[in-house]
Amino acid sequence: MRVLVLGGDGYLGWPTALHLSDRGHETAVLDNFARRGYDRELGVQSLVPIQDLETRVAAWEEVSGKTVPAYVGDLLDADFVYRVLREFEPDAIVHFAEQRAAPYSMIDREHAVYTQHNNVVGTLNLMYAVAETNPDVHLVKLGTMGEYGTPNIDIEEGWLEVEHNGRKDRMLYPKKPGSFYHLSKVHDSHNLEFGCRIWGLRVTDLNQGVVYGQETDQTVRDSRLATRFDYDAVFGTVLNRFVIQAVLGEPLTVYGTGGQTRGFLDIRDTVECIRLAVENPADAGEFRVFNQMTESYSVSQLAQKVAECFPGPVQVEHLENPRVEQAEHYYNVKHTGLVGLGLEPHLLSDTLIDSMFDIVAANKDRVDPGALLPTVRWKGHLKQR
Ligand code: NAD
Repeated sequence: MRVLVLGGDGYLGWPTALHLSDRGHETAVLDNFARRGYDRELGVQSLVPIQDLETRVAAWEEVSGKTVPAYVGDLLDADFVYRVLREFEPDAIVHFAEQRAAPYSMIDREHAVYTQHNNVVGTLNLMYAVAETNPDVHLVKLGTMGEYGTPNIDIEEGWLEVEHNGRKDRMLYPKKPGSFYHLSKVHDSHNLEFGCRIWGLRVTDLNQGVVYGQETDQTVRDSRLATRFDYDAVFGTVLNRFVIQAVLGEPLTVYGTGGQTRGFLDIRDTVECIRLAVENPADAGEFRVFNQMTESYSVSQLAQKVAECFPGPVQVEHLENPRVEQAEHYYNVKHTGLVGLGLEPHLLSDTLIDSMFDIVAANKDRVDPGALLPTVRWKGHLKQR
């Protein structure tokens, strides 16, 4: 198949493009390098050095003999999006290209507006481009488990059978997200479901859990193929951050009681879930939703797991929670769709955490310890004017 990976220079987009290319798909990437710009804005960098996109693509060609054309441009530029779709003629598009950090979206009004504008308008441009150039293209869109929030009922895969006043309907599962970033994903989901209903688009919305890990079968083939590894309090996902804190001898920073439970998955499962979704397209007019996670853990359980695996003393520090979220709650998620397509999950094992310790130890000189502490407060950013 011909697959276009949007956000193909990012943490997940780059390894996904390599995985698809390795599996014989004609793969291209598109990116506007916004993510590298956030690093400059925040004064942080990936723990593991990453190469520019041109060098990465050349290295993959050297290692695998396969070419991955790169399109550099912005999804907000509709003419560019139409041009790329006409030129590359994809069978499937994997859409990772959004601002993806909840804290970044909560810095202030400008960052909230940027996030929703970038994410919602970018996806809308893409939907129109698909509908007007070839509505048969399968759109695989990255959503997040954070769209659901933590409802006091079981979380289904995107849809809910509702009985109300004696009548029944199948409705989009109600959402209670916890940041302007997560809200942007909810808005995308609604727009995409509408596109399926009115234009017959075929869409898979992947409500992904928090991803951990940094290596895949393809990225380990050459150091120039490495993907980014974020540790800062804005972009670093929780397990990655805990591993780095353990190696540095810093306390693991648990927000509040640590009772917040979330869905997680290994980066090797992310790339495989995408392959499975691409190779098994949604039907025309179908808005198909999968919950892309393999295990649930509370933040405290994760901290404990990292502390148990680390061969030295580890302290856990409970900080006042900068976010507004439930400290203790019910969390029971259905996630059978991708397993039904053949996913064999890598569950969080001690060996994985051990390998992450090694990656961090090799790069620990690059860490800025100041970047580990949370600075963005959900309530604190409102200014008195
Ligand atoms: P990332 O920031 O590393 O990658 C996103 C890429 O998209 C970046 O390279 C960025 O430059 C590009 N991009 C952003 N806006 C763009 C635009 N307007 N035009 C073109 N390119 C643009 O993020 P990631 O961690 O790889 O996440 C990828 C996707 O997966 C995101 O949509 C995110 O919401 C979703 N997701 C990630 C996680 C996680 O744990 N990392 C969890 C759940 C969902």
